[in-house]
Amino acid sequence: MALLALAYRLGFGASSQVCGPFPYRGPTSERVIALTFDDGPNEPWTSRLLDVLARRDVPATFFQVGRCAQRHPDVTRRVLAEGHVLGNHSLSHAFHRYLTQPGQDEEVRRGQEALHDISGVAPLLYRPPWLCHPPWVLRGVARSGSSPVSGTFAAPLEVLQPAAHRLTDAALDRARPGAVLILHDGREARGGDRSQTVAAVGPLVDRLRTHGYRFTTVDRLLGVRPYL
Ligand SMILES: [Zn+2]
Repeated sequence: MALLALAYRLGFGASSQVCGPFPYRGPTSERVIALTFDDGPNEPWTSRLLDVLARRDVPATFFQVGRCAQRHPDVTRRVLAEGHVLGNHSLSHAFHRYLTQPGQDEEVRRGQEALHDISGVAPLLYRPPWLCHPPWVLRGVARSGSSPVSGTFAAPLEVLQPAAHRLTDAALDRARPGAVLILHDGREARGGDRSQTVAAVGPLVDRLRTHGYRFTTVDRLLGVRPYL
């Protein structure tokens, strides 16, 4: 059991670097944060989230699932049109696809192709679903020319959608200079209610700003290219 737990931490732990470089924060002591949103687009939540960010003039990074983008291509295009950065979060977000190198490689490649077909840009930032990054996943990401991106889960129970103020408080606790905070505007490739996450983001941005934080995108924070 202890061995299993250790294997899990090494292969899935957000900050584990044992299997290879897997950046989870930027190299800075400045009060700058990258907000990231995974598993979208998922309507109406992604559009509402974009409204919240636009009102506050906050750039963010959206790690989108190819299959979800195919469902809501206009929303993927809006993400780019409003100055956010688009990242690749696989084609299908299906767990069994990560168990073999060919399956994993195809998820990276076809996720990038799906997003490119819709948006006109081929994302080079790749966040593996569940932050699953055993050696063959990182190898495949490197071979594709993409940059792997980890982060810090803003609220561990976000999937259950606790009240928005709890999500805001949890995210504030985890805010650090250079942090890459992970939130979700969808759930895997299944969509679902994200009302509490959307409601948490405005107050989170406002409170981080009162603490002197400003916002950037993952490519700028890590100093890597966002697109092919
Ligand atoms: Zn995900």
